[in-house]
Amino acid sequence: MALQWRAVCPACGHRVPRSGILSETARCAGCSASLRQNPGWNRVFYALFTVVAIAGGLTTLFVVRQADNTALTIGCVIAFLLLLLPASAWAWPYCTKYDPAPVAKSDAPAAAEESRTP
Ligand SMILES: [Zn+2]
Repeated sequence: MALQWRAVCPACGHRVPRSGILSETARCAGCSASLRQNPGWNRVFYALFTVVAIAGGLTTLFVVRQADNTALTIGCVIAFLLLLLPASAWAWPYCTKYDPAPVAKSDAPAAAEESRTP
């Protein structure tokens, strides 16, 4: 099964970069459309992330406790956490979809003001 980059603009298909993980909303670099992460897909990603984090964390703790070495245990937990963050950033665009963002009423005048500015 090939991995499919799902974090794309629904209007033009432009890919949302991995930095999109940091914010629920984004602006398409291809067509400037306002985008919002699909809440359903977001829940799937965070559920997967949580399962992997708990399973990996418990496995790490179980394995290193056999060594009975506190420094090794702490080091392995930190190493696991340091691996988990880039792994989640890597997996994110394959598990997230975007919807067009609804135009908020409070944003409309600001957006109009922005477009008038040269
Ligand atoms: Zn677009």
